[in-house]
Amino acid sequence: MARRAGRISTFILLVALACGAQVHAQAVPTQIGTAPASPSSGLSQVSSDALGWLQDLIRINTTNPPGNELAAAKYLAGVLSREGISSETYESAPGRGFLVARLSSSAVPDPSRALLLVAHLDVAPADKSKWTADPFGAQIKDGYLYGRGAIDDKGMLAANLAVFVALKRSGVHLNRDVVLLAEGDEEGGGAAGMKFATEKYWDKIAAGYALNEGGGVVAKDGKISYVAVQASEKTPVNVDVVATGPAGRAALPPANNAVVHLAAAIAKIAAYEAPVEFNTVTTAYFEGLAKVQDDETAKWMRALESPDRSDHAARWISNANPAWNAMLRDTACPAMLAAGTNPSAVPAEARGVLKISLLPGNFADPLLAKLRELVADPTVRFEVEPGALETAPSSSLDSGLYAAIGRVSAQQFPGAAIVPMMSPEATDSTPLRMRGVQTYGLLPFPLAADDLARMRGADERIPVDSFRQGVQFLYAIVTNFAAR
Ligand SMILES: [Zn+2]
Repeated sequence: MARRAGRISTFILLVALACGAQVHAQAVPTQIGTAPASPSSGLSQVSSDALGWLQDLIRINTTNPPGNELAAAKYLAGVLSREGISSETYESAPGRGFLVARLSSSAVPDPSRALLLVAHLDVAPADKSKWTADPFGAQIKDGYLYGRGAIDDKGMLAANLAVFVALKRSGVHLNRDVVLLAEGDEEGGGAAGMKFATEKYWDKIAAGYALNEGGGVVAKDGKISYVAVQASEKTPVNVDVVATGPAGRAALPPANNAVVHLAAAIAKIAAYEAPVEFNTVTTAYFEGLAKVQDDETAKWMRALESPDRSDHAARWISNANPAWNAMLRDTACPAMLAAGTNPSAVPAEARGVLKISLLPGNFADPLLAKLRELVADPTVRFEVEPGALETAPSSSLDSGLYAAIGRVSAQQFPGAAIVPMMSPEATDSTPLRMRGVQTYGLLPFPLAADDLARMRGADERIPVDSFRQGVQFLYAIVTNFAAR
């Protein structure tokens, strides 16, 4: 039973679910946005090349565990060197690590201005028996490219590579360094990937700004409903709840049974709801999202800020969507149970695992103190699992990069709401934000809820059109921010 820091990627599904809770198949419109074709780089040629790169990357199996990410990094290095771009690969463990490449804007690099293009090399496991296409076949069918990682996160990896190559081919003048970072082990918590890179090789990747996975361009009813820019994420902490008692024979039920004490404790924990807390990002999120909701939902989103109705509004919003509920408060969710090995024996110990997700700036201790008080059982203790991430600050909504994303999104998707958002789950953005990097999550591909729902599941796929549009959208953002 894998226990880990809960990264990940279902986040965008939650975003899709956040836009009204129904998940139903919607065709992605072919003509998304009215952006003129950028004259500067033969971008459409690069997008076509990039589709082939994405297929090749999907065919390199980097399922984590075990990872095997450097095989994909080697492939990236090959594409880059054919474009006359050098890269460096650093190994954190056999076959694992990260790749970095840099386009310099001047002879003297200024890390504080540099822009990182981040994507992870590893993918979540795929159960082939549940797929209609080979998860590592990269087949294109009915306008869709199928494969594990087509969206999460090899789509982003190929789009970053495309933008990097397009900048190189176009010879555009950069006003800051642009750095390509492809790291392993995102699905496994980052010890062999982003944590390794930031702790051991910060000088190679130091930057003031970064674009990473997260957020999204959400299509609904044939048009782009909103662009969510992930500017913050909650901090996951795994906590064991352990009940102890005398071992015994189940045919002679003891007064103190560890399994019963654990079950009672878990029920009390599950019934607890932490108080609602807003931050700059979630306030702006609900304000912005209200513009593209049905009347009832919009009414309650707006009421979140009214002194006399905010409690009721928070209640309504929390009930309407688990993603919204998770954005409003710290949460403690029972996720695993383990007790006993023999139906005839009462075990001396029963153990459960909670997934705690903390709002930025919050710490586990006060919440655990509250849970201890609620459980009020001396036979039950709480153990925080080692390796918990530290809380990271939110990225600024006043930065030059956030402004560039807003400008280009408004151009490309007229009428869509552009909202910052806080992810209920963590990504590799956390270690970067811990180092003061203004990091934004933006999966640039226009996607409908149905496609978002396939990530980490069966038949993950990306519409070929959306991939091309995403490359073009990302290029427009990067040149808007980093080109003279
Ligand atoms: Zn991911």
